Amino acid sequence: MQNFLTIDRIEPQKRSQLERTKDYKEIYELLQKNDMKEQASRCIQCGNPFCHNKCPLHNLIPFWLKAVGSKCDMDLAFALSNETNPFPEITGRVCPQERLCEGDCSLSDGYKAVTIGAIEIAISEDGIRNGLKPRFAQKKVGKSVAVIGSGPASIATATYLLRAGVDVSMYEKQNRAGGLLTYGIPGFKIEKEIVARRIEWLKEAGMELKTGIKIGEDISFSELTNLHNAIFLGIGAEQSNKANIINENAKGTITAIDFLRNIQKKQFKENFDNSIDVANKNVAVIGGGDTAMDCLRTAIREGAKSVTCLYRRDKFNMPGSKKEFKNALDEGATFVYNAVPKDIIINSEGSVIGINMQKTIMSNATIGGRQSVEIVKGGDFKVDADVVIFALGFSPDNPMFLSENGIEVNNRGVIVVDSKHRTSKAGVYAGGDCARGTALVVNAAADGKAAALQILRDLSL
Ligand SMILES: Cc1cc2nc3c(=O)[nH]c(=O)nc-3n(C[C@H](O)[C@H](O)[C@H](O)COP(=O)(O)OP(=O)(O)OC[C@H]3O[C@@H](n4cnc5c(N)ncnc54)[C@H](O)[C@@H]3O)c2cc1C
Ligand code: SF4
Repeated sequence: MQNFLTIDRIEPQKRSQLERTKDYKEIYELLQKNDMKEQASRCIQCGNPFCHNKCPLHNLIPFWLKAVGSKCDMDLAFALSNETNPFPEITGRVCPQERLCEGDCSLSDGYKAVTIGAIEIAISEDGIRNGLKPRFAQKKVGKSVAVIGSGPASIATATYLLRAGVDVSMYEKQNRAGGLLTYGIPGFKIEKEIVARRIEWLKEAGMELKTGIKIGEDISFSELTNLHNAIFLGIGAEQSNKANIINENAKGTITAIDFLRNIQKKQFKENFDNSIDVANKNVAVIGGGDTAMDCLRTAIREGAKSVTCLYRRDKFNMPGSKKEFKNALDEGATFVYNAVPKDIIINSEGSVIGINMQKTIMSNATIGGRQSVEIVKGGDFKVDADVVIFALGFSPDNPMFLSENGIEVNNRGVIVVDSKHRTSKAGVYAGGDCARGTALVVNAAADGKAAALQILRDLSL
């Protein structure tokens, strides 16, 4: 219990900056087994574990840390970790732990938090290497649920329904399942084989996966309501925000998700748009969150000549994960703070050649708890750019079938759900980005899990 006094926190090893920017493989190594055990033994087993409370899935963190750290019972750790989490090996990789479990670890005040995320991955990978798999029901209960979308919210819903013996049909409009885990978050944060492996387990458990099917176009929503006992909507929030400035649709501009999805399609050797090429070009990314960091790091891997992040607040107000900011910086991205785009400069052929920027200062006024920004008069300057990527967040892109079927959305376009994840239409549930606005993988997972448990209750299972 006092091991934290003698054992320091260690981070998983990172591949060198030179090596990792040549490919899309994950940059972190797995924790070695001995390190995993030693690091887990730093946990002080708090009576009221703040890490567990802060984790949106309420993972049984101190229990699996104890199973690893003092009992050396890896099978128990694997079972406990998979009990509350539909995909621990994924959340361990993509959660911003410093804002979640590790941020609230009692040791973070003075002794440095337990490396919860890295241990979560290591427990799963060790178990899988030794033949362990998540368990699903052997007997079916004669009910079926349609899950629309295949991102983390939908994977979570499918997981908990399959565990209870419910038949699940998952419909995904893209070629591959996984939502933003597959076509958004780059491989250097999560390799695509890790996502595909989870999907395969769901298929082995009997899930019917139909990719390349857009509900509302290829199959009508009402057809699904006739076929299934309930429907879960996990359709994400796919509409990229732009800056609302002159020439923002010029040749050479692109939204973050179009850029990242296209590069991922290229990696998969699927059909991709080869006109979106950043090699040897000056790339400017507008925005300062995690998606912006992903674009900067992807452009570096694609051979850009220069990669610059333009952010309207200062460094201390950047909204994303500190870890991802540091990774982008180490990999060669340049940062310009306190700068907003005024308009995009184009040449006679209509292609981007730069951006007119305005300097800003942080003002004392606050909006939503954050300092707002003010434009500095006479502070205009120009940034050269051949490619401009907008990483300014996402809004829901709601399909027509929502309004046609009386499924209410609010003024932000977010599907309205009650505390049980039920929409305004009986038998239809929703979760993840489409029902809460853009958030994190772990929030989508928590929604999907809660919706599945509610569907089971409503179907009297
Ligand atoms: C670039 C980027 C990086 C990110 N990085 C992180 C990170 O590091 N950590 C983190 O925790 N979060 C990250 N996020 C946020 C996270 O990816 C999302 O919060 C999460 O994926 C939301 O899950 P979801 O299941 O609600 O939706 P999505 O993952 O968006 O999945 C929705 C799915 O529904 C499908 N779909 C939509 N409409 C239909 C239809 N009509 N018929 C059939 N299928 C349909 C879509 O094709 C898509 O596959 C990132 C987001 C982006 C964009
Ligand atoms: S799911 Fe995320 S927040 Fe929860 S324990 Fe794992 S890494 Fe921490």
